[in-house]
Amino acid sequence: MPADQVILAIDQGTTSSRAVLFDASGTALGSAQQETRQQYRHPGWVEQDATEIIDVTFAMVRQVIEETGVEAGQIASVGITNQRETAILWDRASGEPVAPAIVWQSRQSAPLVADIRHRGMAERYQRITGLVPDAYFSATKIAWLLQSDPDLRRRADAGDLAFGTVDSWLLWHLSGGTHHVTDYSNASRTMLYDIRKLAWCDELLADLDIPRALLPEVRGNSELLFECDADLFGAAIPVGGVAGDQQAAMFGQACFAPGEAKNTYGTGSFLLMQTGSEATTSEHQLLTTIAWGIGGKVEYALEGAIFVTGSAVQWLRDGLGIIESAAEVEALAGSVESSDGVAFVPALAGLGAPHWDQDARGTITGITRGTSAAHIARATLEAIAFQTRDVIDAMEADSGIGLEELRVDGGASANDLLMQIQANLLGVPVVRPKYVETTVLGAAYLSGLASSVWDDREDVRASWEVDRRFEPEWGDDERSDRYGKWQDAVRRSLSGT
Ligand code: ADP
Repeated sequence: MPADQVILAIDQGTTSSRAVLFDASGTALGSAQQETRQQYRHPGWVEQDATEIIDVTFAMVRQVIEETGVEAGQIASVGITNQRETAILWDRASGEPVAPAIVWQSRQSAPLVADIRHRGMAERYQRITGLVPDAYFSATKIAWLLQSDPDLRRRADAGDLAFGTVDSWLLWHLSGGTHHVTDYSNASRTMLYDIRKLAWCDELLADLDIPRALLPEVRGNSELLFECDADLFGAAIPVGGVAGDQQAAMFGQACFAPGEAKNTYGTGSFLLMQTGSEATTSEHQLLTTIAWGIGGKVEYALEGAIFVTGSAVQWLRDGLGIIESAAEVEALAGSVESSDGVAFVPALAGLGAPHWDQDARGTITGITRGTSAAHIARATLEAIAFQTRDVIDAMEADSGIGLEELRVDGGASANDLLMQIQANLLGVPVVRPKYVETTVLGAAYLSGLASSVWDDREDVRASWEVDRRFEPEWGDDERSDRYGKWQDAVRRSLSGT
């Protein structure tokens, strides 16, 4: 491509929309970001105005183009990444949403999930979609919308409505209403997609009484889909890549081979491990998901979410008041050599993968007269690392693949002490890239591969730069001794003990 060409990446997240322009070396030239609002009409419900999602996202694209002085005609292609699972229904004729977007966190369809379980269908859903049934996923959100309003049901049955996750909704509007499409990674989070046959599943659609006519066409994650309506941004920019946020981050971390994995350390943590062309069914309640499908070849991943990691550090700040900012935890924890036998299980919202105990409660063990705030701080960082190890162990057991290194990003990955502890506990290196905004970078890579900015994945891998590599410093004995103490503490935090 000509030297002055650039890639536009859009990241439509749960709380904000962002647009970033990258040059051909993968360097960000500029970025524009604005928050989007959430609505809480009832306890447990989280909704968004779907029109605002479009307006804010498109405004950020215009802003970044203007601020960087790039001409719209220089943009080789656009890549999109998005909050996953959030469900939107719209009218095909007008393009207007017919209900608020139901955000992934929203729980209004939990009774429908309980019903799936009561009917003994949970295992069937997991076998077909790779997902452990939960209200997070789009399927029961759609069913709930159709059940809650007879008019929507009638219009859906008549083929007048369209369903989409946020990627589809953006693509519909980018195409001026001509394309109703999604990609493999987002389709695999609906709980309606057969991840092995690569088709919407009629059995599950019938089970939830969802008309097939609602659903988008599923396309590859890195291919030219269409050109954007030229009136939007001043040029008919081709759309070249789409992926859900966690899959995009995995691509942005260049996890291209089986066993390559990334962990995002934010409020909670999201771990994904590439497992290659076979979909591995988890025996440990991890999720099996499509990583991406490119050039007709689909690759899979195992995914585990940890609810409380960075937010345990927030609890030290807001609950205990022993630090004033999250970043201070590093110095406090570093002021002691070890946690001196203190273990903290931050089951502040139950325990997720691989324990899945929503009634588990936070537990601190091993406290003595000599225990100080610094020991608790150090035990908190260890807890983040131990929980990651729990999920990695489950992934290795499920996939039969050994982890060779862990790539990291997210707010808490800036903490060098935490990263060192993580490497010590895993016994493999922890690698932090220079550019930690891996989600939006992944969308740029996927799109730039389709528009020939990058030739192939090796070319992408070459542009991915390491900031720091943390090598493990503990021997096997120390590692298993410490891990044993953690497992004891976890047992004490589980409900029923
Ligand atoms: P999210 O995207 O989930 O909002 P971020 O990636 O912005 O999260 O990370 C913020 C989280 O990381 C917060 O929970 C905060 O407590 C934690 N955090 C930020 N800096 C540090 C640090 N230096 N050490 C440990 N935790 C940190």
